[in-house]
Amino acid sequence: MDPPPSKKSKQEHTTLATELAQDDHQKQIMIIPRPYRFPGKPIAKSSGNWQSALQVYLSSADNISKLSPSLQENIYYHDDNCVVIYDGYPKARMHLLLLPRRLVAAPDQRQQQNGNDSGVTGSGRSLRSIADLSKDLHYEELKKSHATARQIVQHLTKEYRSLYCNKNKNKSKDSNADAAFADTDNNCLLRMGYHAIPSLDNLHLHIISTDLDSPCLKNKKHYNSFTTSFFVEADQVEQELLQNGSFRPINEQAEEEKLKQPLCCFKCGEIQRNIPTLKQHLLVCSHPYIPFKT
Ligand code: AMP
Repeated sequence: MDPPPSKKSKQEHTTLATELAQDDHQKQIMIIPRPYRFPGKPIAKSSGNWQSALQVYLSSADNISKLSPSLQENIYYHDDNCVVIYDGYPKARMHLLLLPRRLVAAPDQRQQQNGNDSGVTGSGRSLRSIADLSKDLHYEELKKSHATARQIVQHLTKEYRSLYCNKNKNKSKDSNADAAFADTDNNCLLRMGYHAIPSLDNLHLHIISTDLDSPCLKNKKHYNSFTTSFFVEADQVEQELLQNGSFRPINEQAEEEKLKQPLCCFKCGEIQRNIPTLKQHLLVCSHPYIPFKT
C-alpha cells in the first residue's frame, strides 16, 4: 500500500518555503510541493516523559539544523511559524502533525500547567490543547499555521490523487482503493483538525488522509478519534475563536464517550463488527466523504 520511502537531503528540509510577495504589510509564503515520504518514524524518547515527545522540534527558532539527522528526517516542512513532522504512528496513508512555534500560554494559564519549561519558542509555555486558545492571544498565529496547513493539504491532495485515485488508474499503487477513494469534486481526501483531548503536549494540528488505512490504526479509540466530533476541524476552531473569543470548554467525559462509540463507517454510516471488518469495508466503501460544514 505504501509508496517506497525516498531518501531526502538535509538541504531539502530547509528550502521548502519561498517568499513570493513581500511588502510592508503582508508577506505571502508559498510552499513548494515536496513528496510525502512514508512511513513516519516515532520520535525516539528523550529524557522527558512521552507526552513531551514533540517538544524537541520547538525548543528554539533556529534549532532545526541542530537536530540529529534522524529527527531532521521526520520533518516534512518548517518555516518561521511552524514545524510539520511525520506522525510517528500514522493512522492513514498520509498523516502529518503541524506544530505552531509561537502559540504560547498567557501567564495565568502557564501557572496552572505542570511540567518543565524547556521546549518553548518565545516568552511562554506552549499551549496544550484547543481549549487553551483565546482570540486575543492566539487567533492571528493560529490563522498563519492553518494557512500553511491548507497549502500542504492542497499539495498532498494532488499527490494522493496521482498515487491512489481512480482517475489515474494506471498510476494507482493499490487497485483496491479505486472504489473507496473516488476522485469526485466533493470527496474530501485530506482533513486538518485537532483532537479535543490530545495525548501529547504542544498544540498540534493533524493533517490526515481520509482513508484511515494504516497498520498503526489498531483500535476503536484510534478510529473514533478521527471520525467523531472528537476530531475538531481547524476551520471550526478558527470560527469559534472569532465568534466567541475562545474555544468552548471541553467536557472530558463526553469526549471520552465519543471514543467508545460503535465502529461506524464515517462515509456510509454502516456499523462494523470489529477493526478487521471495518478496514475491509473502508477499502471498498464508495460513498464519498463530505465533511460537515460549520
Ligand atoms: P493527539 O492525540 O492529538 O495528541 O495525537 C498525538 C499524535 O502523535 C498521534 O497521532 C500519535 O500517533 C503521534 N505520536 C505519539 N507518540 C509519538 C512519537 N514519539 N513520535 C511521533 N509521533 C508520535
